[in-house]
Amino acid sequence: MQIGFIGLGNMGAPMAQNLLKAGHEVKVFDLNTQAVETLKASGAQPATTPKEAATNVEYVITMLPASQHVKAVLTGETGILAGIAKGITIIDSSTIDPVSVKAFAELATQNGNTFVDAPVSGGTGGATAGTLTFMVGGTPESYEQVKPVLQAMGKNIVHCGDTSTGQVAKICNNLVLGITMAGVSEAMALGEKLGIDPQVLGKIINTSTGRCWSSDTYNPFPGVIETAPSTRGYTGGFGTDLMLKDLGLATDAAKHAQQPVYLGALAQQLYQTMSTQGAGKLDFSAVIKLYRKKGDA
Ligand code: NAD
Repeated sequence: MQIGFIGLGNMGAPMAQNLLKAGHEVKVFDLNTQAVETLKASGAQPATTPKEAATNVEYVITMLPASQHVKAVLTGETGILAGIAKGITIIDSSTIDPVSVKAFAELATQNGNTFVDAPVSGGTGGATAGTLTFMVGGTPESYEQVKPVLQAMGKNIVHCGDTSTGQVAKICNNLVLGITMAGVSEAMALGEKLGIDPQVLGKIINTSTGRCWSSDTYNPFPGVIETAPSTRGYTGGFGTDLMLKDLGLATDAAKHAQQPVYLGALAQQLYQTMSTQGAGKLDFSAVIKLYRKKGDA
């Protein structure tokens, strides 16, 4: 298939590489010309505008930082909608707010195109390995249509419901994750202060009712889980700033829906404090540092 791909960052570049590996013809665009050159060396066709990347293709995929970037790429003077033929499907895999998704889908429909939201989980490791989970929002027909394309980049392609429900699934999952990581951090730090060996506490939680992904896979206390970012100085993993972004999307969506998110708002403030203190690039499990003495391992 012929596919336009816009946004070749940490996630987009390996995703586009996997489309090439699967035998698709890929036209790529990014403001970062070096990223375009790297994909060109792997066999992609370089484009100089989003409009060019969206010309003579069957699908256009966007993987951009936030809603304002998606808007610019869609509606700018040299944007996708300025050049795209009718009947083309636009797949946005960026994590953005559900309200913007509905507005973008409306614009695409007016232009004779289909817009599908398909945010991902699995991080840069999943993007490289081609094992991402895609949460797809759109009609059953558009889901069936995009599935074979997404299968070149992911393992689980899940239809969540109508337009924007992919983003709803993504932000609700990360709302739980941000809260549970703060909860496990609080408990592990309290246990340490009260004198229990963190290894023992970790084992108890992980065989008891407190067990969750934040405790048994990504435990924030160094050394409890060998493969967790906490054990390698909170490097790699899922950055605090990305968690902060997703919690911001969740609390904004909640405000729009007039729905309370007590714990989400509190968790957002914890990750905001981490970011303000210069720890935005550390894995989000570093939130435990707020509970422990400065200088603790
Ligand atoms: P990134 O910042 O590494 O990459 C974004 C890319 O978009 C950059 O190469 C940038 O140059 C490009 N870009 C920005 N504005 C542009 C424009 N107007 N035209 C063309 N290109 C433009 O971000 P990322 O880590 O690849 O994340 C992309 C999206 O995926 C985000 O929405 C993020 O929340 C989501 N996400 C990231 C991860 C992760 O672990 N990194 C995991 C899941 C979801």
